[in-house]
Amino acid sequence: MLDFVERDLKAMAPDLSEGGRFKDVSVIYRVDPMLGNSTRLIQGSKLQPSESPEYSLVSERDGFCPFCHDTVDSATFPFPTEMVPGGKISLGRSKVVPNILAYSTYSAVGIYDTARHFLTLSDFDQALLADAFKAMGYHTQMVRRYDPQVEYSSINANYLPASGSSLIHPHLQSSNDYVPLTTQRLFLQTAKANPRSEDGRTVFDEYVKAAKEMGRAVADTGRIDWITPFAPLGFHEVWAVFKDLSDLTDLTDYDFDEIAYGLSKVLAAYSDENLSSFNFSLQGGGHEGYEVGYRLNLRIVSRSPLQPLYRSDVTYFERLGLEAMIDLAPELWAQKVAEKFS
Ligand SMILES: [Zn+2]
Repeated sequence: MLDFVERDLKAMAPDLSEGGRFKDVSVIYRVDPMLGNSTRLIQGSKLQPSESPEYSLVSERDGFCPFCHDTVDSATFPFPTEMVPGGKISLGRSKVVPNILAYSTYSAVGIYDTARHFLTLSDFDQALLADAFKAMGYHTQMVRRYDPQVEYSSINANYLPASGSSLIHPHLQSSNDYVPLTTQRLFLQTAKANPRSEDGRTVFDEYVKAAKEMGRAVADTGRIDWITPFAPLGFHEVWAVFKDLSDLTDLTDYDFDEIAYGLSKVLAAYSDENLSSFNFSLQGGGHEGYEVGYRLNLRIVSRSPLQPLYRSDVTYFERLGLEAMIDLAPELWAQKVAEKFS
């Protein structure tokens, strides 16, 4: 049903060890059947850093931070009480506050821990992630009850400046809109173009099944399949695909615990690769999502490592060609992440 397009672009490059003699080099071009993006899997240049990140560059608080425990109550504001009863949301060490910068009809910022200004990737354990995700989930539920016309929700994160984050203090962000993100729209289009099979399997079921058959399975944690995508959009990309949920409003605390468990494992794999920065996005499919076969999914990519003069991981290929150029095959990456789940 799904078409996994792959071809070798058959490049040539001079070999330095053989006096510059041109040799054949394989450049694998793939088109992902879910989002329609194309990707190049290249050989040679490795963007992964060989040493641990220099966390001292950012770990010390330098001046004002709106998310630290001594300032968060004066630097942030309560939600309107008609939307959030009492105006405030907190759970464990986490807090959810309104975003000062409006980028969606309803958005929020979640702070994992106001007492910790900086976290290394190995500090993101299941408990820390679960509380913050649950608190963001409560906000989503409240928004969707307050304004039932809103249907496209996501919980996302930028971590460290290389990911686009403007603040060091670790946080998450949500979007709740009347319109879908491009990826939500594309996933819905793909689901509609590939109706369920006679035995009820969705296009997401088919994609996960193919990932298992093609060497890209990472783990099955119960209600979520963890895989690497056929044609990644970014480096070290991993997908978490819910087997039977389509929207953020379907999530129970148990589901958030499962997301947090898996995400902590993926971040542990990132830590092993000396990575430090990441983006993730958990995206729901709106009102028609379940019916058309959309499945709730979280996708995570690594971003350029923390270094004084780093090379951005985004080139003209990604920004202007909408095509990722990846130096590690998703099949090999799946094996490495799977070790963290075993
Ligand atoms: Zn802080």
